Amino acid sequence: MSSAPLPSGSVRVRGHDRPMETVLRIVREGYTSGALLLWGPEGVGKRTAALSLCRTLLCGAGPERAPCGECPSCRTPLASHPDFRLLDRGEAASIGVDPVRALLSGTLEAPLLSPLRAAVIDEAHLLTPEGANSLLKTLEEPAGGQLFFLVTSAPDRLLPTLRSRLLPVRFRPLSDPDLSELAREAFPEVSAEEIAPLLPEACGSLSRLALLLDPSGRKIRDGAVLFLGAFRPDGTADMAAVSEALSILSEKEAFDRFLDLLEGLLLSAERRLAREAPEPSWADSPLPERFVGGLPDFARARIHDRIGDMRRMAVHNPNRGLALEQVFWQLEQAFAAGGR
Ligand SMILES: [Zn+2]
Repeated sequence: MSSAPLPSGSVRVRGHDRPMETVLRIVREGYTSGALLLWGPEGVGKRTAALSLCRTLLCGAGPERAPCGECPSCRTPLASHPDFRLLDRGEAASIGVDPVRALLSGTLEAPLLSPLRAAVIDEAHLLTPEGANSLLKTLEEPAGGQLFFLVTSAPDRLLPTLRSRLLPVRFRPLSDPDLSELAREAFPEVSAEEIAPLLPEACGSLSRLALLLDPSGRKIRDGAVLFLGAFRPDGTADMAAVSEALSILSEKEAFDRFLDLLEGLLLSAERRLAREAPEPSWADSPLPERFVGGLPDFARARIHDRIGDMRRMAVHNPNRGLALEQVFWQLEQAFAAGGR
């Protein structure tokens, strides 16, 4: 049920030397049976990093920094590699027990081309409880030489019993220069000058930058600005402005993008306020700063928690209207708690 094509040769990763080296060191030190949790913000390259790590670990030369490129394992594309498996949601909304069982079915066999077997489960927070439990059983009695990489931007959404079995490795947002370089590779038709002003709001995420480059994404982003503008300094909200902002969001995808872009707006405003630290004048500063600047730290943290909650809900709740009302009320409460 793989959705994105797998790379045939080596996999290049940018900006994540530290977590990558951490994983390789852990394996060199003998952790060759078990599961790692690669977690961090969306769109920073965790899945690509997992694939690159698998290439390296499957190489007959062992867990050195780069795969040799010449051994039978390195010459076999990941898509047809007998010692590699990838599980992702594909077109499905979740990852259920059947695909997990299919993934696990081969894990007891000895590797054919490599020192160990490796499997990647992308968007692991979408595992259903049955799927997670099935995986958990395998992790409780690990076969020798089988490594799992669970990739997620929402580790708190994993079943706690499963999470407790995983070795967490954190991925951070990309630096602006790394993000800029990656964007130039991903979107060769876009110039560096077009990318530069979008970097602050992209906050180290290539997927968010892609949204900001896209006209429909820009429209949703403008809706998020309107949405923030609907909150008045006294803690009440302009309901007409809220519904205008939310009228953009009719489909599920738009809802996810809205949350992503809203978070980018808030994060970049927070970063700017932390760096430049002018006491923001309520009336004059740009809208996201005006919103964030009026909030104490705990209220900012609460808003990010709430956005996380909304993402979780968006996966399970088919009723967009209800979900949007929830976003609104949650943000209004967090905003009111800031005392404005
Ligand atoms: Zn090799």
